[in-house]
Amino acid sequence: MLKHRRTALERVEKFVSATYFTDCNLRGRLYGDSCTPTSLSCFQTPRRIPYSEAVVQEFRPARVGDAFGPTWETCWFRVELSIPPAWAGQEVHFVWESDGEGMVWRDAQPVQGLTKEGEKTSYVLTSSLKETEPHSLTLYVELACNGLFGAGEGSMIAPPDPDRKFTLSKAELVVFNRDVYELLVDLEILLDMAQTCLLPPGGPRGKCICSLCFGMTDIVCSMINPNEETTQLLGEENQRSFQALYAANQIVNVCDVKDPSTFPAARELAAAIFSQRNGESQHTIHAMGHCHIDSAWLWPYEETIRKCARSWVTVIRLMEHNPELTFACSQAQQFEWVRSWYPGLYAQIQDYVAKGQFIPVGGTWVEMDGNLPSGESMVRQFLQGQRFFQQQFGQICSEFWLPDTFGYSAQLPQLMCGCGIKRFLTQKLSWNLVNTFPHHTFFWEGIDGSRVLTHFPPGDSYGMHGRVEEMLKTVKNNRDKGRVNHSAVLFGFGDGGGGPTQNMLDRMKRMSDTDGLPRIQISTPDRFFSVLEKEASQLCTWVGELFLELHNGTYTTQAQIKKGNRECERILHDVEVLSTLAVAQSGTFQYPASQLQQLWRLLLLNQFHDVLPGSCIQLVVRDALKYYAEIRRAGSRLQEEALQSLCGELLQLRSGGAESTVVLNTLPWERTEVISRTEPAGTEALALVTAPSMGYAVVRESLLPPQPVAVIKQEDGSITMKNGLIAVCLDATGRLTSLRLVHSERESVADGCRANQFALFDDVPLYWDAWDVMDYHLETRKPVTTLLKPLEITLAGGLRGSATFSLRVGESSTLTQEIILDAMCPYICFKTQVDWKESHKFLKVEFPVQVRSTNATYEIQFGHLQRPTHWNTSWDWARFEVWAHKWMDLSEHGFGVAVLNDCKYGASAHRNVLSLSLLRAPKSPDATADIAHHQFTYAVMPHQGSFQNAGVIQCAYNLNFPLHAVPASCAPCPAWSAFSLSSPAVILETVKQAEDRPEAVVVRLYEAHGSTVVTWLQTSLPIKEAMLCDLLERPTAKGHLPLEQQGMKLSFTPFQVLSILLVLKQ
Ligand SMILES: [Zn+2]
Repeated sequence: MLKHRRTALERVEKFVSATYFTDCNLRGRLYGDSCTPTSLSCFQTPRRIPYSEAVVQEFRPARVGDAFGPTWETCWFRVELSIPPAWAGQEVHFVWESDGEGMVWRDAQPVQGLTKEGEKTSYVLTSSLKETEPHSLTLYVELACNGLFGAGEGSMIAPPDPDRKFTLSKAELVVFNRDVYELLVDLEILLDMAQTCLLPPGGPRGKCICSLCFGMTDIVCSMINPNEETTQLLGEENQRSFQALYAANQIVNVCDVKDPSTFPAARELAAAIFSQRNGESQHTIHAMGHCHIDSAWLWPYEETIRKCARSWVTVIRLMEHNPELTFACSQAQQFEWVRSWYPGLYAQIQDYVAKGQFIPVGGTWVEMDGNLPSGESMVRQFLQGQRFFQQQFGQICSEFWLPDTFGYSAQLPQLMCGCGIKRFLTQKLSWNLVNTFPHHTFFWEGIDGSRVLTHFPPGDSYGMHGRVEEMLKTVKNNRDKGRVNHSAVLFGFGDGGGGPTQNMLDRMKRMSDTDGLPRIQISTPDRFFSVLEKEASQLCTWVGELFLELHNGTYTTQAQIKKGNRECERILHDVEVLSTLAVAQSGTFQYPASQLQQLWRLLLLNQFHDVLPGSCIQLVVRDALKYYAEIRRAGSRLQEEALQSLCGELLQLRSGGAESTVVLNTLPWERTEVISRTEPAGTEALALVTAPSMGYAVVRESLLPPQPVAVIKQEDGSITMKNGLIAVCLDATGRLTSLRLVHSERESVADGCRANQFALFDDVPLYWDAWDVMDYHLETRKPVTTLLKPLEITLAGGLRGSATFSLRVGESSTLTQEIILDAMCPYICFKTQVDWKESHKFLKVEFPVQVRSTNATYEIQFGHLQRPTHWNTSWDWARFEVWAHKWMDLSEHGFGVAVLNDCKYGASAHRNVLSLSLLRAPKSPDATADIAHHQFTYAVMPHQGSFQNAGVIQCAYNLNFPLHAVPASCAPCPAWSAFSLSSPAVILETVKQAEDRPEAVVVRLYEAHGSTVVTWLQTSLPIKEAMLCDLLERPTAKGHLPLEQQGMKLSFTPFQVLSILLVLKQ
């Protein structure tokens, strides 16, 4: 052999090429004889219908070459096959190549998923045709007119092309030459070992693989260091590369493609290389089959049900032939879908779960967004998920599995631990745009100090293909070298489903222990994490949130979904509180457990990591809004039923009409607020009322405020409002020129600035439109100043004062805002309506405040955290747009200003300016995103002392959980409170019936100030016994709580979440 590396390499490449020299190369011999179906016919439908309904339709003749569609239709094919008897002893495949995603049905059961994009184009009929086997058979192919990634027009994430056609390009029976295939796999591995040093920069397949363009752009992407990808792999300096190359070259010499008797000698040459073993120090890769299926994204929920079936049936077929194959499968919702739509397949899955091959992981209902769901929503993700896995498979999951969401809340470690989980797998932080995350295997510590063992597969992917370069990248990239010598590799097509292939498995078999490559074993999450746990002593710890430095637009995109989420979280909270109290008070009220489970599951489904973030197509948005409407409708009915039971006697209206009002408070503190209620005459009027902590009161007369709201219009058009606590001065465009705390005379608005200033930004990201807002948008800020209607007084004061104005925003949008100040209320509300018609613009509202602090505080799940207000380091400025829940605060010692909101999540605090992100207008994947009428409310609250002592947290709850006012006609009676707490640091968030225990109630509390505190929980419910339990409602050891005169004594550490099981007296 001559020493010309390139000709040797390319010679081998041509020998296995599917494009070149197939007339004489090895690849051209992969298939032997073929024959066409004896009959092919089809039936098309716009609906996704069951098999039984499809097969009785009228089928018309079809031909290979025909095109079907348009997008989202389904085409059912009936395929009559007759295997030639001459093929006896041969391996026979049914090969199907078409656009779209197919499912083969045989004898009324799904048997094989087919997608060209997922490298699945054949169904193995027999591995060796026997005479006794049926030679004639009928198959059905259910073809979904959408690709693995939907049907984006021109680009993957563009809105779907509604008129796409899907062509059938091949349908035939073929003889499959297994010996040719095996040799092809040998050569592929040798070639990859030999040539990886010649790869183009950016990735093994010549495509950019960075997070910014996802291989979808043609531009040479600057994200990739051209040297990085090439140096990691076996290179020209590496003798292993040459050994592989020379072996491959020798195989081409030895192998006569027309004479299979030459193949064994060729295979022995390959085996000689593969069997050269590693030294003991070599890294071990734990490979696990996986298939990331987005529960909805570029396709609707309904299609996902079929994606699950197509992907999982394929996994089952693979397991039949590969008993070593393991498959980690997340999302209880997807199991539930397959259980109800494909019971036959589900039964097979249950068998393989029992065998330990099909492995449920994750523990959650769906792979949810990691930032925006409330604390209780996250608990329910686990509660619904783990209970499902326990009921269906007899065990809960021991690892949280969330490879693909846009950041991870710092409260997650505690919630995981509370749900029986101490292990976590993700990889999304590899998409960071600015900073490289410093670990792949580490302990992640949450805001309360809980720690979970965390692993990011160093190959930076959850959908690997079992290729040499992926294995080498895994070893090279691992940032914990020396500390851990094990990594995970998840292999299988993902996002749109697909899963592993036989080819991937066969590649990895050859690489299992070969000098120069890491050791590769097919493993399980449990085996893998158990090994890590043994090596854990040297691991580093990352404290706080795992913030993704990308996709920060997802805190704001699709504002109606965000609003639906917040509202429905509130509705389910209130229904649970009121229903639980109704049960405790009356022996007859039935807790609506199954309805609540159904509504929770809808809410949890919509929290999926492409739905709640707003990164989905319009069809998905429609479904999501439909589910929210269903929760609102059913929720208000359930609320009404609970109310009737709880205080029905009080609500009996006499002929005189409503003389009084029952005021209900679902929050755990007493509240005095201005409400709107129905007067005896039937008109709405304001009243100042007091409602007890988690309970109700009957109110006749409004209270007199210690100081009424005064509203005064000045000569220059500005308006002042004050209520004895705060005083505000508004200019004619609705901006705050002054906001003072009356007692301290402390000014909140920064000198010379205006607060409540709207600003519009150009919002054109680099690729991920609905996902990304880029740092440079900040350079395009334009204050919104075009007045349509100057500020006018709308309510003159007394219990409530308000003033209203309108602005033009951008080209053609309008904004109307009512600024409201209530008696006794420590904050000012901004009730806002926007007719939003912009394109690629970002609307925010800004509050420049007179506070100096290097950190701002943001509410997260069951707690809060701080983020810097400066841009010192790349880690600081990469967080130019962050997320928060109900409030954010900027405080210095003794004083601060908080901004509260009722349905927003995007926020930022730079220097002394607090900004709330209001609306975006991306065009992909939903061209109509956010073009709508929007309503939302936010508030600003200056305060003395710390935000904790000033009650910012409680005020944000009050804004989000309005008092319920129900007309009644009874005499006043004593207020009734179900629960109250002695410390304002502790919040009782959840009151619900225990799962499967109608005689017990679960209450969940958390420490909200970041303090160590002891508090008494008092209750008027008839309690027999109380014990601490975990988030899955399992009593904890030594969790018994004595019932004392003052209630139950509870001790909290900062941000600790406690759940208590209260057994009611029957
Ligand atoms: Zn995903």
